[in-house]
Amino acid sequence: MPAPQPELPEPAHPDIDSMLSRKFGKEIANYFSGSPLNRVSFLRPDHTFLSQALKHPSTSFLLFNKLEPLVKSPTELAYAKYSDVQPVIGNDPFAKTEEELVKEYDSSTYIPQLVFLGLDGHKEGLIYKDHYKGAPFFALDITPKDAATAAAEALIKDVESKGLSFSKGRMHLSLPAQEAAIYAEARHLLDWNARNPFCAACGYPTLSVNAGFKRTCPSKDLAASVQNAENTPDRPPCATRTGVSNLSFPRTDPTVIMAVVSSDGQKILLGRQKLWPPYWYSTLAGFLEPAESVEEAVRREVWEESGIHLGRVVIHSTQPWPYPANLMIGAIGQAIPGGEEIHLGHDAELEDAKWFTADEVRVALRVGTGGPGEPAGPEYKEGGLRLPPKTAIANQLMAAVVGGFLGGEAKI
Ligand SMILES: [Zn+2]
Repeated sequence: MPAPQPELPEPAHPDIDSMLSRKFGKEIANYFSGSPLNRVSFLRPDHTFLSQALKHPSTSFLLFNKLEPLVKSPTELAYAKYSDVQPVIGNDPFAKTEEELVKEYDSSTYIPQLVFLGLDGHKEGLIYKDHYKGAPFFALDITPKDAATAAAEALIKDVESKGLSFSKGRMHLSLPAQEAAIYAEARHLLDWNARNPFCAACGYPTLSVNAGFKRTCPSKDLAASVQNAENTPDRPPCATRTGVSNLSFPRTDPTVIMAVVSSDGQKILLGRQKLWPPYWYSTLAGFLEPAESVEEAVRREVWEESGIHLGRVVIHSTQPWPYPANLMIGAIGQAIPGGEEIHLGHDAELEDAKWFTADEVRVALRVGTGGPGEPAGPEYKEGGLRLPPKTAIANQLMAAVVGGFLGGEAKI
């Protein structure tokens, strides 16, 4: 049997009438969006808040070992409590202010990466300054490392002895939608922090601040190994300490993914990569390049990969994709009359690109979706078109096209 596909997240306020919905159709929420957490981003530098959130009995910690999340099963994340993580993080990494921590920076001290994800206001929890309420969520990297090795290894052993495991699955597309969104935020930020231990401007080590959402390049470093000739902890000037700088904030890389419709609106262009199993096709996709609009990127990628010339392009919906830091911008583009001849020679990315009728795609969305290599449903006939599951925005784009764009939902 094919793996179960979770329900997609609900868009915000789906039942409230809106002139925008009447004009543009219902909002589409894609998998990995729809988080139940209020990120209260303005509280990230507030260590009084973070300190209370850290120790509150309602607080949950999502643990990662080598970027693999702790799970009870493929459909359920597992969370730890403050008492579980305290040996790894110490009593309170937020006991001092951010300013004090920057002043006392010592790059030789390993600090396990902790990220404040947000407050779940649907649950009883912390109340801060009367306004900000909910159960706090943190992500913590417990990959055994440096001084935290022994405590991290003990915690890993402890959770594994309770039947929990660090999920080795690649994409985690079987979690319920809200869990998937929490996981996506956590994974994206832990991965970004792990990849950016050094300042992109001056090359010196950086310190995680703003509860894991920023890395700063301190002007002093107490570690003897990096002291300068004058034997002071001062570091050279760095451009990130003056003026507006975007060097030390988490990045999100935009990619475009598009359903391509023929000029008569009757056919859909799909492509396949060499490594995919037989009969597998999907929408085309590519990276947005610097100084390019989304519409231009869609037209360029489609022409480069398939030779098709697109006219009008509309943005349909977007999907966070934490592998490692993407935002998929889903679009629908229509070929211009006379621009529909397929030519694969420009770019060797695709093994094949083909026009499919709306009926072929409609049938495949009903009976032939799943992860690459997974079996299809019982109604699938060998040799029929295979398509990605609904957790992939490609599926939503195709469903929107064969559903006539009305409300963006498939009529299959
Ligand atoms: Zn720097």
